Amino acid sequence: MKAKEAWNAAYHQLELQLDRASFDTWLRDAEFLREEGDTYIIGVHSAYARDMLQQRLYRLITRVLSDVCGSRTEVRFDVTRDDTDSTGDDEPDMPLFKLLAQQQAVSPMLSDEDGNGTGKPLHEYVRSPQQTELPDYELNPRYTFDRFVVNGSNAVVYEAAKAVVEYPAANYNPFLVYGGVGLGKTHILQAIAQGCVQRGLRTIYVPSEVFTNDLINAIRTRTTAMFRDKYRTVDVLLIDDIQFIGGKESTQEEFFHTFNALVNFNKQIVIASDRHPRELATLEDRLRSRFQGGLVSDIQEPEFETRVAILQMWMREQNIEIPSDVIDMLARRAPRNIRELEGVFTQILAQTRISGSPLPMSRAESTLSQFSRPRERVTIERIIDIVAQVQGVPSDAITGKGRAARINRARQIAMYLSRDLTEYSLPQIGDVFGGRSHTTILHGANKISKELETDRVLEARIQRIKHAIANP
Ligand code: ADP
Ligand code: MG
Repeated sequence: MKAKEAWNAAYHQLELQLDRASFDTWLRDAEFLREEGDTYIIGVHSAYARDMLQQRLYRLITRVLSDVCGSRTEVRFDVTRDDTDSTGDDEPDMPLFKLLAQQQAVSPMLSDEDGNGTGKPLHEYVRSPQQTELPDYELNPRYTFDRFVVNGSNAVVYEAAKAVVEYPAANYNPFLVYGGVGLGKTHILQAIAQGCVQRGLRTIYVPSEVFTNDLINAIRTRTTAMFRDKYRTVDVLLIDDIQFIGGKESTQEEFFHTFNALVNFNKQIVIASDRHPRELATLEDRLRSRFQGGLVSDIQEPEFETRVAILQMWMREQNIEIPSDVIDMLARRAPRNIRELEGVFTQILAQTRISGSPLPMSRAESTLSQFSRPRERVTIERIIDIVAQVQGVPSDAITGKGRAARINRARQIAMYLSRDLTEYSLPQIGDVFGGRSHTTILHGANKISKELETDRVLEARIQRIKHAIANP
């Protein structure tokens, strides 16, 4: 396969594997430039996209690409056309607002240097209330106040969040929530957002990366006026994971002005961060001190009672029964991070559904220990054997040539799991599957991952097979 075609194949693979926001944000514009030895040089449109791809998606991309190529392939990202400073060639980090001023006439409310305003309410500056065409970020309907279990360690955050919905821009402005991964920051921000939407307030919730990307696109397509209309004319602006904005001077600049514009016109700002603002090393001081001017509260690991209450809520929602001693055991021993707790719960849920009765303690314990045990090396042969057993076909039929529907199905499942559970490359997997090509493996595996998006029965079956594989 030619390099360019390989990249195209990997690109479409990645489109399937990543959630839409990430793909659109980082990869949509990426293009193949050339090959240097076993390194593919991929062109992107901004230094920011390059950095984010390098930091956050590098491993996934090399893995997918290596699979497609059939051998270890590296990638490097080059900025082909930095849209963020296309006019400032010899001054790469020119502050964004200068650039913007060069690009177009700036509307009156937007040109005030530090957003110190002139006392006029925001809406009087908006020439014509336009419908913005920038896409909105979707909220997760499950992230509501009703579903947020309140207890000692998060009561302050919860009460403040409720107060923000009730009296926006009154006492807690800006309101900044910080805390570790999986402790409910996104949940609480989106709960505020949904509460505000219900009250008829114009509300935007975005991860900081989406804010940045909207900005980059706006500059590229010369629609910065629209960008500003979108972000500076809301009643409530919520920005999640602000730590990712650090280090990006132009975005900080724009955010700072947005921030001032909103606060000066008495609009509410809510921010989430993975650490206290004083530890956001790359954040400009003026932004940092702005954050500290409002309410900064932390969200901590939930205590035992909270974990029990969360597990019980999930159990009720799923309409299954988990014995109370099992709940107790999980709340004591499962990870403290609620996202991981959810992972354990999902396993227990799948097994309870499959067995059709509440899980005894011993099963629950083994599920939990499997969850916390580092992944052992799984062999492709083992996967084939277990799939054969569960699907009721002989193992050698899976690696053989037969094309009967049952066999074909078992084969696809085994291909999918081999890709998903092992570190082998597609050609290596192909060898074990009777010398099939890596594209055949890719095709089979993709068929299953596509179906898994909608087929709950298949999902339960795959869960069961995975469980059997993990528990010799
Ligand atoms: P963070 O943004 O801090 O990384 P999330 O908000 O994504 O964490 O939370 C991870 C998961 O835990 C989500 O499914 C969320 O609904 C759940 N969760 C977190 N805190 C609570 C809580 N207090 N009550 C119920 N569910 C919670
Ligand atoms: Mg989050």
